[in-house]
Amino acid sequence: MDWVKEDLKYIWHPCSQMKDYETLPPIVIDRGEGINLYDINGKCYKDVISSWWCNLLGHCNPRISKALQKQAETLEHVIFANFSHKPVISLCSRLAKILPQGLCKFNFADNGSSSIEMALKMSFQYHYQTGNTQKKRFMALSDGYHGETIGALSVGALDLYAEIYKPILLDVNRIQAPDCYRCPYGKTRDNCCCECIDYAEKMFEKYGDETAALIIEPLLQGSAGMRIYPPLYIKKLRELCNKYNVHLIADEIATGYGRTGKMFACNWAEVSPDIMCLSKGLTGGYMPMAVCITTQEIYDAFYDDYLKGKAFMHSHTYSGNPLACACANAVLDIFEEDKILDTLPDRNKLFNKIVKEKFLAHKNVGEVRSIGFINAIELVNDKNTKQPFDSKLRTGYQIYKKALDKGLILRPLGDVLYFNPPLIIKEEDMHYVVDVAYKSLVEILGE
Ligand SMILES: *Cc1c(COP(=O)(O)O)cnc(C)c1O
Repeated sequence: MDWVKEDLKYIWHPCSQMKDYETLPPIVIDRGEGINLYDINGKCYKDVISSWWCNLLGHCNPRISKALQKQAETLEHVIFANFSHKPVISLCSRLAKILPQGLCKFNFADNGSSSIEMALKMSFQYHYQTGNTQKKRFMALSDGYHGETIGALSVGALDLYAEIYKPILLDVNRIQAPDCYRCPYGKTRDNCCCECIDYAEKMFEKYGDETAALIIEPLLQGSAGMRIYPPLYIKKLRELCNKYNVHLIADEIATGYGRTGKMFACNWAEVSPDIMCLSKGLTGGYMPMAVCITTQEIYDAFYDDYLKGKAFMHSHTYSGNPLACACANAVLDIFEEDKILDTLPDRNKLFNKIVKEKFLAHKNVGEVRSIGFINAIELVNDKNTKQPFDSKLRTGYQIYKKALDKGLILRPLGDVLYFNPPLIIKEEDMHYVVDVAYKSLVEILGE
């Protein structure tokens, strides 16, 4: 069978201009192991983007695979209204112990975007049922990303994904997000006091009373180009939310599970959100599952006699899928057994050093920024003025193709190259992938 030809005959790939596949056909992957993926011709690719940021502990991790297999032989799925099962109960009781304080009620979905929809509906309904019917608006940060369904897309702010749909999206108040590389206050990461909270303060003054929730990606705006902002900013947002009775929704779909060097990005700010969404790392990248977690206080506003009509009438067929929960439990087992979080500080630092040493001096590297294992390299046309490349040149995409030739999956965000490898990456691979990425860059932009 000509697998590539058959693929193109039937499949519409996500987030792709399919015409690009004429020059860059799909790579048909046969198997995976650790950070390596092997295509049907046996070529190896280093997956330093964790297959869209979800693969947490390596491909075909033996311990997760085994847990999944065992569960598949026991119970594959069961309706989750009125029924339950051990894997999901264990998972929630374990997560409740490690989540930011107060988060204790778990509502399951099967993808990140759906958990965002849940969070928005839950917040609106809470206010409605506690006498604040005027709270029907949402706030979000500029350049945020929260998924692709209509509600999630509405609170997101990236024109690349949302522009065409604007006529059918919710009207959301957008706070200008911190941009620490191009700070509007002329500050640097070292001397910043989050002066840019000003934008949020003004927005809360104007719309706080009619706003149900503010949604953020804590510390790291992933799809915006791995933009990193300080924990202090979240603390200040938390204060504003308290002052105006606005929920803080933390979208930790990308940042949860050690990606920022701590279990959750909110831990850096020592802030508890009212609602948190988790997905990507949750099952180690094995099964599609997401969870929207909230507080006793929010939960209680829905708890009443049936005929009062206060229940949260939101469901997904695959809510709380046992196979996914078995994987999620195996991930927590590995975190405990291998003390993954304890290994991160030193290894995160080492990887950042390797990336910086290689890239920082290059004439087109504007900034190397990092949090956890995530290291982003922002390419610019002019280092002094920070002027970007003309996006029509598709510089990042050219580098991506060079890297693919060499067996490295980079998939840049515009002209931001980044690494977001599985947490189990070994030192020799750190050097190798950074070398290959740099060679690919040099082939496009010169020394
Ligand atoms: C990936 C992502 C989502 C959407 O999750 P899906 O499972 O792709 O729907 C939402 N928010 C953030 C921050 C993400 O990175």
